[in-house]
Formats: sequence, C-alpha cells, structure tokens
Amino acid sequence: MKRAKFLVPLLLALALSLAACTGNTEVTRVVTATPGPTPEPIVKEVVVTPTPPSVAPVPATASGPAIPQDKGYLVEEIGDGLYWVTEGAYQVMFLTTGEGVIAVDAPPSIGEKYLQAIAEVTDEPITHVIYSHSHADHIAAASMFPSNAVIIAQEETASQLERINDPNRSFPYGSFVGGSDVPMPTVTFSDRYTLEVGSQTLELEYRGINHEPGNIFIYAPEQKVLMLVDIIFPGWTPFEDLALAEDIPGYIEAHAQALSYDFETFIGGHLNRLGNRRDVEIQQEYILDMQANAAQALQTVDFFAIAQETGFGNPWLLFDTYLDAVAEECAKLTLPKWEERLGAADIWTVEHCFKLAESLRID
Ligand SMILES: [Zn+2]
Repeated sequence: MKRAKFLVPLLLALALSLAACTGNTEVTRVVTATPGPTPEPIVKEVVVTPTPPSVAPVPATASGPAIPQDKGYLVEEIGDGLYWVTEGAYQVMFLTTGEGVIAVDAPPSIGEKYLQAIAEVTDEPITHVIYSHSHADHIAAASMFPSNAVIIAQEETASQLERINDPNRSFPYGSFVGGSDVPMPTVTFSDRYTLEVGSQTLELEYRGINHEPGNIFIYAPEQKVLMLVDIIFPGWTPFEDLALAEDIPGYIEAHAQALSYDFETFIGGHLNRLGNRRDVEIQQEYILDMQANAAQALQTVDFFAIAQETGFGNPWLLFDTYLDAVAEECAKLTLPKWEERLGAADIWTVEHCFKLAESLRID
C-alpha cells in the first residue's frame, strides 16, 4: 500500500517534468519522501539548464564570403565579365557581353536585388535569360526581367512550365518560396545549345534526368566556370533526400558528367560559397561511400529478425522499420568519415542513405 501511495505522485511528477520541457526553461519536479509511517511527498521545482540539440559543428571549409549587410547581397566578378550573385542561400550568375546581359536563373529569395547587382556593374540591358530548370525557388522571379528578353531552356523545362502555367492549378507556383508564374521559354533545345552574344559564349547541355527532367549544365569555356544547380553543394551535404533528386542513378552520374568539363569554378545554385573541381570530387566520393554503405546495410540488417518483432500483419510497419534500420546502419557507417568534412552531414546523411538504399532496391 505504501508503495502504491508513492507511485501515483511519482508518475505524476514524471509526467509533469516531461510536460514542462517546453520553451527555453525546463522545470523538473522532484519528489522526495518525508520519514514516518505515512510519508507525504514533498514536491520542489528545479530549474534545469536546457541541453542544446547535439549537432556537429559546421566545418570552416563550408563558409563563404561575408554578404554586405547594407545591400543584402554579394556580387563578384569571377572573370572576363562573368559575375556571381548570392544573398547567402541561393546563387546565380550573369555575363556582360557588350551587347546586353545574359542572366541565369532568378530565385525569388534574391529577387530584385539581382537587378541591383547587375546595375551595379553594367549599364547594359538584360537581353537573354537562361532557366537552369523549372523549380520555382530558382526561377520564379523571372517576370522581373524585360519582356523582350530571349528566354532559353531545355525542352523538358518548357513542358514543366506549361503545366505550371495552368490557370486551373489548385495552388500557385512557388508556394512558400515566393515569386509568380514565369514567362515561357522563347528558345528551347534538346541536347545542346551554344549561346553567343557579343563577346561571350555559353554552352548549354542536357545530359538526361538527374535532379529533375530538363536540368542543364551551363558552361562558360572562356572563364572555365560550370553552373549545375541542385546537384553539388560545395562544402556541405546536399539538401535533404539527395536534394530531392528525381532520378538517383542520373543524380550520381551527374558528378562524373560535371567533372568531364574543363572548369575551375563551380556554381551550385545554393548557399554562400563557390566551388571548384575538388569540391565536386569530394561530394562524388561522399555519395559513392554512402551508396556502398547502403549496399552493405541491405546485406547486414536482418529483415527476418525485424519481422519477428513487427510480425507480418502490417507490412508497411515491417518495411518502414526495416528500411529505417538500413538507413540508420548506412549513416552509422558513413558519418565517422564525413561528419567533420562536410557541413551538416549529421543532419541529412540518414535521409540520403534512405534514398540510395531505395534506389539500390528498385532502380
Ligand atoms: Zn530544383
């Protein structure tokens, strides 16, 4: 009976302490017993300093140049009239040609700061626009460009944008990321397109589905600059789920395809630093390591042992438990080598492993 009398307030205290773990201050109610035959619990509150979530420090190699706070963006010449612009989260490039500016992409997060950046370095009008791919977070501010600009995209991107421009769609293009419907491309191509304007040349090439159908390689041979968006994240692990890649074998192959260009500077479209060949090689090694570790985990994580725990009555429970265990094992094998080499590897390696294991199972 004594024990039962204690148990109720003790459980209550435990529940309260869990419920109190909200906000910045954690209050734990500690129950102690007073001596005597019919002890009454004494409840006192203890303020506990919150423990920050355990997140690996971001390595110094992940950081880029400071963004001038007064302007909210950085514009820098990479070479021979080719400039890049970033606000810290997204990146674009533009070229002055002597006959007009070629602008690549138009993320809503940079928005009209892109126009300011261009006006900061040239009086030339924007005459050409290139869409790297159809995603709103990279191009949904494109309606700010002059309406007579030539707009170039791969034909799959044009198909995606036709669907996007459907006035009957339930939700607008670019929910959350902002922007609005974009002008349709005026020039489309299938495999290759060489754009020559004034003093500048850009080679556009489509090498198959990777991040999404229509995502192109944009290469400036004079400046040895390669832009490929949403594939390689210099200094960082890719965005969640291999940056939402729609074709995993194509995504992996895109690393080797990128390295087939003679480039020195790489523009990945995200975060605040430029990349180089070494960054592409490093990410390729990371992805291939994860793929090998996912293959190993598919061999070693015991499906039938997990089925013993979950039973077969709910197959989705069984597969969810099994595939999560495979991804966790793959991440456990991967992180010791990569946690200190790439920013946020601890955040998304398990999600990348999940995608790679799924691709090994079905692609
Ligand atoms: Zn994208």
